[in-house]
Amino acid sequence: MAKWVYMFTEGNATMRNLLGGKGANLAEMTNLGLPVPQGFTITTEACTQYYEDGRQINDEIMAQIMEAITKMEGVTGKKFGDKENPLLVSVRSGARASMPGMMDTILNLGLNEDVVNVLAEKSGNARWAWDCYRRFIQMYSDVVMEVGKKYFEELIDKMKADRGVKLDVELTAEDLHELAEQFKAEYKAKIGADFPTDPKEQLMGAIKAVFRSWDNPRANVYRRDNDIPYSWGTAVNVQMMAFGNMGDDCGTGVAFTRDPATGANGLFGEFLTNAQGEDVVAGVRTPMHISEMEQKFPEAFVQFKQVCETLEKHYRDMQDMEFTVEHGKLYMLQTRNGKRTAQAALKIACDLVDEGMRTEEEAVAMIDPRNLDTLLHPQFDAAALKAATPMGKGLGASPGAACGKIVFTADDAVEWAERGEKVVLVRLETSPEDITGMKSAQGILTVRGGMTSHAAVVARGMGECCVSGCGDIAMDEENKKFTLAGKEFHEGDFISIDGTTGNIYDGIIPTVDATIAGEFGRIMAWADKYRTMKVRTNADTPADAKKAVELGAEGIGLCRTEHMFFGEGRIDAFREMICSETAEEREKALEKVLPYQQDDFKGLFEALEGNPVTIRFLDPPLHEFVPTDEADIKKLADAQGKTVEQIKTIIASLHEFNPMMGHRGCRLAVTYPEIAKMQTTAVIRAAIEVKKAHPDWTIKPEIMIPLVGDVKELKYVKKFVVETADAEIKAAGSDLQYEVGTMIEIPRAALTADEIAKEADFFCFGTNDLTQMTYGFSRDDAGKFLNAYYDAKIFENDPFAKLDQVGVGKLMKMAIELGKPVNPNLHVGICGEHGGDPSSVEFCHKIGLNYVSCSPFRVPIARLAAAQAAI
Ligand code: PEP
Ligand code: MG
Repeated sequence: MAKWVYMFTEGNATMRNLLGGKGANLAEMTNLGLPVPQGFTITTEACTQYYEDGRQINDEIMAQIMEAITKMEGVTGKKFGDKENPLLVSVRSGARASMPGMMDTILNLGLNEDVVNVLAEKSGNARWAWDCYRRFIQMYSDVVMEVGKKYFEELIDKMKADRGVKLDVELTAEDLHELAEQFKAEYKAKIGADFPTDPKEQLMGAIKAVFRSWDNPRANVYRRDNDIPYSWGTAVNVQMMAFGNMGDDCGTGVAFTRDPATGANGLFGEFLTNAQGEDVVAGVRTPMHISEMEQKFPEAFVQFKQVCETLEKHYRDMQDMEFTVEHGKLYMLQTRNGKRTAQAALKIACDLVDEGMRTEEEAVAMIDPRNLDTLLHPQFDAAALKAATPMGKGLGASPGAACGKIVFTADDAVEWAERGEKVVLVRLETSPEDITGMKSAQGILTVRGGMTSHAAVVARGMGECCVSGCGDIAMDEENKKFTLAGKEFHEGDFISIDGTTGNIYDGIIPTVDATIAGEFGRIMAWADKYRTMKVRTNADTPADAKKAVELGAEGIGLCRTEHMFFGEGRIDAFREMICSETAEEREKALEKVLPYQQDDFKGLFEALEGNPVTIRFLDPPLHEFVPTDEADIKKLADAQGKTVEQIKTIIASLHEFNPMMGHRGCRLAVTYPEIAKMQTTAVIRAAIEVKKAHPDWTIKPEIMIPLVGDVKELKYVKKFVVETADAEIKAAGSDLQYEVGTMIEIPRAALTADEIAKEADFFCFGTNDLTQMTYGFSRDDAGKFLNAYYDAKIFENDPFAKLDQVGVGKLMKMAIELGKPVNPNLHVGICGEHGGDPSSVEFCHKIGLNYVSCSPFRVPIARLAAAQAAI
């Protein structure tokens, strides 16, 4: 028979998966001989079983719970519903990974009218007894029976008004007694049955409610944000109540062994006399600093300080503890490794190494790579943010905080920024044309688009705050206004957006610049020491590349050359190329672009100082580059000696129903070899120039052909790339070496990687497209249905943000296994957005990738994640 229930005396800290964090630590504290009110833990497996049984607690589990109650009664000497010595318990959730505040808790369980009277008499404190009871009815009704809290709060307010008092504590025992009666009547009115008096019935209701709370929307979102699988389930802890609210010699508190905001070593926390746990958390009364506890409860304080030391030494990490003092006696209710800010995490990890408690590897493993994000971007002022209420929410597509005046076009963004205004660019969606505007803005907000939409990818690349896909915005771009949360916003109105949470705020929330503490460098140096995978960056400009190098990038894994066609002077020539009708016309136009491209590539080689640079040839369909407004069309017509009508006809002919699957990638190189030839010439000339200037650098360009599905495509394009390159090298009398490789981003390429590897010097997984094409989900439109997929538990995460290791990952693994034996020199990387996602980086390490490549601001995250994968 499976064991579903463990007494605290039966578990230990290593049983976290089964007992949850709280349960495992309560058992561990019991083993350490610390003063823990005793009880038992119902396992996470019982939670999973509850869901498998159709949200029922089966007979076997029920029987073990009943047995545990009997044992608990034996250990505590108290009994459920007893007239002499009644047992009251707390029922609390406890998942493997802590999910603070996400699930439910019930306190003071076991109370009924008889028990209240016993407690009142025994304690000589009727007020306390009735207060516990009314709290219990309120909590049980809310959490277990889902009767809204507000009905009870209204009754309390009414009672206070009737009695002419302001504070809860001013209500007398009689008032609270009457309130409990009113609560029970309210319960009956809403539920249609009497409030349960049998403690065992109460307990089963509470356990079910905690299991059920694993699946509440709040918890589901938290799990998605924190990479916690739904399948883990939560444990339930049933623990004897210790009372902090029995009088002035009682109290309750929450404390950390180090400051969770700064990491400073020293006790940090809050304490309230004559109160129960939720009073501290709920902020009903202002708690005192933990140090003041020394005067109120000198003995308990000395003991508490010892407990803190014991626990921190034992867990070798900063602890977050809850405790209660009942008539001067200390009880430990919980301990866990405390949540902390990114800055505190770095300091604590370094301090623990210096204090000899942790090794460097352990310190590296302690930092959550996702937290580093917050250290690299401007942030909202914490107090101002706390006071603000979001008016909408999109995807937190690129972290950071932005506050500025609303503008609706990229041109306005540039213009307003030039005259010193801070702006937030709000668009239905962005396109490559908007890049300069995006750069000028503090942040970008879009109505459409997912985590790999243009706006999201580009913003992350620029390290700029972006909230994408806020479908609640009713946009009127033409009239430069939109409506959100019932309010109309116009050009020039202030708005604030949080690229980490996706929250959108009306008005100004001040921002503060990111600071990188000294410990950041130490942790990164340790990470570099232990990782085996290289980390490159996706960068299209020398400025981005330099930033990435500063952040530790060891090469460029992806330069999207199409982003280079939009600068001053280039777009006109490029448009002439697109609208050419003969090869000569086209070549003439491309000749104008060539020097610009060559200059761009030179800048990249220089920024990387001899580290590898992968340049991907033109990828998006040509229609993305054609002019849309009349003035630009006219300008192009004049330049080409054509009529506006002729240009419009050419533009119309480029229209595609499904551009993502259309005339893009190597298909462009097949139809217009001149483009790829021009790009080859630019790459090779730039490389030769930089090599000459810096003979000590290793300049070996990596030319990458996108969207290959058949080896013959690669062979065809490679032939003229090589011919062009070799001719350039020969003409220059250089010995430059270069590589030609391909992206693996079409499933067929992965399936036939053994053939492709014969022609490719390297593979780079384009997991944005590979995910799109493996699932058959459009990467731009998937946001429309992903929420329904989360609700239906089909997906737990966005597959465009976190790699689908089962399907897409299998194709990657297959491609490596097929490719490497054919070409032992083949090097393999990833440059899709997943290259900066910690769990995806871990997977890349496992399947043997040589490097991951990600946007500049994710480089430190990838370095840390790569180290954690290797440790
Ligand atoms: C990819 O598809 O993963 C990729 C990196 O290329 P892009 O996002 O430019 O299509
Ligand atoms: Mg791609």
